[in-house]
Amino acid sequence: MIQIDFASKTYVCPFCEHAQAFYASHDAVNNNSYCTSVAVPQGLEESSFTIHSFRCSNSACKRIAVTAINRTSGKQIDLVPQVVMKHYPNYISQQIRNDYEEANLILEASPKAAATLLRRCLQGMIHDYWGIYEKNLNAEITALKDKVTQTQWAAIDGLRKMGNIGAHMEQDVNLIIDIDSDEARKLMRLIETLFGKWYIARHEEEQLFMDITSISDQKEAQRKEHDS
Ligand SMILES: [Zn+2]
Repeated sequence: MIQIDFASKTYVCPFCEHAQAFYASHDAVNNNSYCTSVAVPQGLEESSFTIHSFRCSNSACKRIAVTAINRTSGKQIDLVPQVVMKHYPNYISQQIRNDYEEANLILEASPKAAATLLRRCLQGMIHDYWGIYEKNLNAEITALKDKVTQTQWAAIDGLRKMGNIGAHMEQDVNLIIDIDSDEARKLMRLIETLFGKWYIARHEEEQLFMDITSISDQKEAQRKEHDS
């Protein structure tokens, strides 16, 4: 969902994730036979929506987000984009990001299919980040056991098991185990946490080490210059 705070007039652009202030250049509400100046007759439920559009002030983005808010319930339904997702840097491989983004797109409509995609995403990460390749994901997760914390490992194995529900038919077709969207969203958070703890942490660490080495080299060069 697009994050909007009407009280402080700020929102987070769903495309580039920049938090920013917005101002309303035009404000008019006219829904069917009612408009803002006419109160909804008592006892009548209003079904109309107020449409809000936001243009990003980040010059590299400038994209327009649109959302609809129900005037009675306050429920927000995003129109553009319909799904708000995090965008990850390209040092995480394209295939892994594709699986993650596709899982986001189908999560509400099919949580089970999303769990299956997240399981595939996890397998891609175990191959790509850890270099572990075994006969199947189960064996790969077993090989990962002594490399991550016990709780992280248990959650990863949980994602594998839940992703299995969509990936393989149960022996007994009458046995239906479902995954709801809240559960699939938790699996999604797990993948995001692993992106952070594995890829982003490694990248930031390498960046910092390179920066320090380069500063140290510069100082060394200055010292030599001074000595000569
Ligand atoms: Zn933007």
